[in-house]
Amino acid sequence: MKHIASSAELKTALASPNKRQVCRCALGACAGWESLAEYRWDKTQMRPVGSLRDPSIEEPTLEEKHPQGTRYDSLEAPVAPLFFPYNQCEVWHCERCDRHLLRYTEFGGYNVDPRVRELDPDKIID
Ligand SMILES: [Zn+2]
Repeated sequence: MKHIASSAELKTALASPNKRQVCRCALGACAGWESLAEYRWDKTQMRPVGSLRDPSIEEPTLEEKHPQGTRYDSLEAPVAPLFFPYNQCEVWHCERCDRHLLRYTEFGGYNVDPRVRELDPDKIID
């Protein structure tokens, strides 16, 4: 997957303007981070856009960025590509809804928890 190295590159990668349509597939709105059961992710309609993970960094930071006092799971939380969890995300495009989606895997103990969030271009910050 192509590496997307900055918020500017991320905005460029979302070339088709996100029309912010209501989701018509099994993912639902997912304005904030949600655990993703695999059956909700229909591979036939998902196209990979790129990865925010820097291949030259072995352990990406777990620091989050919330200049407006939001939290990890806030619906209004900004998308800061160099900060957790965005620095571990893949960017996908759903052909059916014409939306972009962020996806990463949260590892907690023995649990592997894939998570998904809609990528709202207006929320991208440096
Ligand atoms: Zn969709």
